[in-house]
Amino acid sequence: MKIAFIGLGNMGGGMAANLVKAGHEVRAFDLSEVALAQAKEHGCRTFANAQETVQDVDAVVSMLPNGGIVERVFTSDVIGHAPAGTVLIDCSTIDVATARKVGEVASAAGYDMVDAPVSGGIAAANAGTLTFMVGGTEQAFKRAEEVLKDMGKAVIHAGGAGAGQAAKICNNMLLGIHMIGTCEAFAMAQKLGLDPQTFYDISSVSSGQCWSMTSYCPVPGVGPATPADNGYQGGFATALMLKDLKLAMEAAATAGVDTRMGRRAKEIYEAFDAAGNATKDFSAIITEL
Ligand code: NAD
Repeated sequence: MKIAFIGLGNMGGGMAANLVKAGHEVRAFDLSEVALAQAKEHGCRTFANAQETVQDVDAVVSMLPNGGIVERVFTSDVIGHAPAGTVLIDCSTIDVATARKVGEVASAAGYDMVDAPVSGGIAAANAGTLTFMVGGTEQAFKRAEEVLKDMGKAVIHAGGAGAGQAAKICNNMLLGIHMIGTCEAFAMAQKLGLDPQTFYDISSVSSGQCWSMTSYCPVPGVGPATPADNGYQGGFATALMLKDLKLAMEAAATAGVDTRMGRRAKEIYEAFDAAGNATKDFSAIITEL
């Protein structure tokens, strides 16, 4: 397949490389010269702007920083420039409202479009083991799946346009909440005189068990290898968790849902980010407790 890839940063760079490995012809564009040079090394053909990149392709994939940029790139440079019938796939994490709006503009212009945000960080993007949560029509999903399966381990249809973003922010709001809860439990266990490993051995097979404990333990030396064992470097940055919690709170306000734990998690990560911890893994929140 001929695929245009726009946004070759930490995530997009590895994803585009995996499309090349799967045998696709990848036409790539990014505003950054460094990102373009790396994409070229990985076998992508690079272009000077997005409009040229999307000429003569079967699919367009994007991995961009935010909703404003996604809207601008798709409405100015992709829709009306990519061949009629091209399937459009935005993998960025953005707000539900913008995802729906851009999906509607694309659909009115005769394109199949999906929002397909990911679970999994840079390591999963490089390894081709991302999980994609996809919003769009059944037909758009089937077409997008053919491309997404070469970059991930799971491609799940969440519902209509915007449903992928809705699933992503609901999931990440829960992740933020249970990471803070896990950190509080470990901090309290220690203050009460329990050894962290002993508490892990008990709680990981009891009703307090959750992903933040058994797959991403915030305590160094306990559970599987995690960013905690590496000085909280790598993994999922606090700034990105905060971005997702902000998107979740925007969606909660629009939908009229009282997500008080989500709101508190956002406040806690906001303070942690402002204290100079933006680039640390989000499990480093335990160091504040
Ligand atoms: P990044 O900043 O490393 O990459 C974004 C890239 O987009 C940059 O290379 C930038 O130059 C490029 N870009 C910006 N505006 C552009 C434009 N108008 N045209 C072309 N290129 C443009 O960010 P990232 O970490 O790769 O994240 C990308 C998306 O993936 C974000 O929406 C993020 O929330 C989401 N995400 C990231 C992670 C993670 O662990 N990094 C995990 C899950 C989801």
